Amino acid sequence: MKVISASVIVLLFCNFGAFVHKIVNKRVLVECEKNKKFLSVFKKKRMLENFVMNAAEPDKRKKKDLGERYKHFFHVNAYEPGEFSRYISREDLKKKILDGKKSGKYKDVGDVDGYIKRHGDLPWVIIDKIVLLKSLMADRGVVESDIDRDDIDNKILSECINLAHYITDFCTPLHLNENYDGCDDYKYGSQTGIHKMWEDVIPRLFFKKYKIAPVKLVIDDLNDYIFSKMVEIYKKSEDILKKDLDIFDIYKSSNKTIYYDLRFKDKKYVKLSAKYYNAYIKKQINLAISLISYIFNKHIFV
Ligand SMILES: [Zn+2]
Repeated sequence: MKVISASVIVLLFCNFGAFVHKIVNKRVLVECEKNKKFLSVFKKKRMLENFVMNAAEPDKRKKKDLGERYKHFFHVNAYEPGEFSRYISREDLKKKILDGKKSGKYKDVGDVDGYIKRHGDLPWVIIDKIVLLKSLMADRGVVESDIDRDDIDNKILSECINLAHYITDFCTPLHLNENYDGCDDYKYGSQTGIHKMWEDVIPRLFFKKYKIAPVKLVIDDLNDYIFSKMVEIYKKSEDILKKDLDIFDIYKSSNKTIYYDLRFKDKKYVKLSAKYYNAYIKKQINLAISLISYIFNKHIFV
C-alpha cells in the first residue's frame, strides 16, 4: 500500500472535514491487501488512490442531490425503544408506526412515509449497498471483454466508496441522534458545534495519538448486527451530549469567564474535551475500519 501514502498525506491536510473518512479508507486498504478478489478489482494505483481521496465524495453530493442527505443519518430516538433489536425492513417499520398511531404509541408522527424519510435511511442504505456490490461482483464474473470488466470495476469502486462512507457515518454516534448537533434546551443553552467538535476537530488534532488497531468481528447475521449495533452506538451519543455539560462544569470551576456558547473557540477547552472523548473516538474509528473490512472481505470480495 506504499503507492498511495504520499498523495494521501497531502490530501489529509487539505480537507479537514473529510479527515476521518480518508484515514478510515486508507486503513481499509491495508486490511484488504491479502484479499485476491479485492485486488483483482483494485488492481490499479489510480483505484487505490481514488478510494481514499474520494472518501468524502458522498458528503459533497448532498449539496446537489437533496435525497442524498437522508442516507447519512438515522434518528434512533425518533422511534420507540426496542424497535431495532434486530433487522426491520422499512415496510415493517411503517406498519409498526401505523399500528402505533392507533394505539397512541406514535401519536404525533403525521404522514408516516414523510416521518420515516425525515428521520433518515442510513442502516437500510448500508444493507442495500452490500446487496448492490454483491450483484456487481456476480456480473463481473461473467463479463467477457476487458472494456466491460473495466466498466464494472469502476462501478464497484464508486459503490465501495459509498458503502465505506455510510459505514463510517454509522459508527459516528451523533449521526444516529435526532439531536445530531446537541440539544437547544440544556441547562446552559444550545450545544451547537458539538457535532463538528466530536467527529472532526478533536480527531484532527489528536489522531497521531490514536492507536489504530482494527478488531476481529464475529458476526452471525449481518443485517441483525447492523440494527442492534446501531442502538448501541446511538446510546453513546446521549453520553457524548451529557458529557459536554460535565466538561463545561469542570472547566468553568477554574475559568470563571468562559461562556458556554463560545467554549469550542477556546483551545484549552477543546483540549479538555478531547481528554474525555479521545478514547471513544478512537474506538469508533477502529470499529468503522473493522466493519468495512469485514464486509469487504467476508461478504463482497469472496
Ligand atoms: Zn456523510
